[in-house]
Amino acid sequence: MYYNGFKDVKLSGLGMGNMRLPILEGDSSKIDEDLARKMIAYCLESGINYFDTAYGYHGGNSERVVGKLLKEYPRDSFYLATKFPSYDASLFSRMPEIFEEQLEKMQVDYFDFYLMHNVNRLNINLFVNPERNALDYFYEQKENGRIRHLGFSAHADYDDLKKYLEAYGDHMEFCQIQLNWLDWDFQNAKKRVELLKEYHIPIWVMEPVRGGKLASIPEEYMEKLRKYRPDATAPEWCFRFLQAIPEVTMILSGMSNMEQLEENVKTFASKEPVSDEERDLLFEIARDFVNKNTLPCTACRYCTSYCPNNIDIPEVIASYNEDKLSGSFFRVPMMMRRLPDGCKPTDCVGCRSCEEVCPQEIKISEVMADIMERVEKQNK
Ligand code: SF4
Ligand code: SF4
Repeated sequence: MYYNGFKDVKLSGLGMGNMRLPILEGDSSKIDEDLARKMIAYCLESGINYFDTAYGYHGGNSERVVGKLLKEYPRDSFYLATKFPSYDASLFSRMPEIFEEQLEKMQVDYFDFYLMHNVNRLNINLFVNPERNALDYFYEQKENGRIRHLGFSAHADYDDLKKYLEAYGDHMEFCQIQLNWLDWDFQNAKKRVELLKEYHIPIWVMEPVRGGKLASIPEEYMEKLRKYRPDATAPEWCFRFLQAIPEVTMILSGMSNMEQLEENVKTFASKEPVSDEERDLLFEIARDFVNKNTLPCTACRYCTSYCPNNIDIPEVIASYNEDKLSGSFFRVPMMMRRLPDGCKPTDCVGCRSCEEVCPQEIKISEVMADIMERVEKQNK
């Protein structure tokens, strides 16, 4: 295992993410504690010293189980990270109560790393409020030694990330973001990395293999990659890509079984970052992959003024593309909550006036119809 320096500590290059622990009976709230115990033992034997969890993982049971299993080891033999559930606006008024509950559940007196969970467009205004500092309570806990290092995780776009940093950048010691070779351009991850660099904030990476999506990529791409590293697996390429980014201090992987864990530990035995040429090849593959799997909306906005219901069409397509790439239906419903009533994709009347002006010839009405069908299914 290689290590990276952070302040006065040495963190293992790979951290154990505890949001996808092995489960029983297909129920994500029932963690297979026997297997999780073996995995945590293997992590510590292999040199992994960073364990990341959160209030909401596994229906609240990740904190409980990880705390219980780590209790079997000396407190100073690992670094523990958890998060305040700031993705839920209704919990902002309950910070002290939740923080105490977390310490109790995890059976510890302090957290080494504590994060505001998922700063994003929906909660940014709760954080950035000129009348009060939302984080005062956590600053106090840091002064009391109950939080060693304070940071945040973000799914925010560049502008919201900037707003958060303008308000709290001086106090944030690290930031956890989704980063991988596919999102570097597609999700503008590069710009976010540059912004964090300006604030001298080191990066913790989540979703290095994009929720497993990059763990197996089409054979045509693997063939190209094998010319450079004949034995490297698709996940290994993801990790080697991140190792080439100097701001990346911690790479988290949410491992669900021993095989994944053993494989990842093998990769992190050494730092073997991609060369410039290898990185360019990954970007070339990313471009091709995105072109083949998403709609080519350029966000020119020619269509929006033609929509009788003022649907923010490029915004809808951006989320739709994201869901298509991840094979889920998560971003679109989240984005729909932000749109005003009467202006949601489900309000599309199928007039197709938008399509008449779209230079990319996107069948926008079909996108809206597909979304309507999925929403209906989800609501059943
Ligand atoms: S087809 Fe739908 S999205 Fe396009 S202009 Fe008409 S109502 Fe708006
Ligand atoms: S006109 Fe087409 S390319 Fe332009 S924003 Fe609308 S959907 Fe996207």
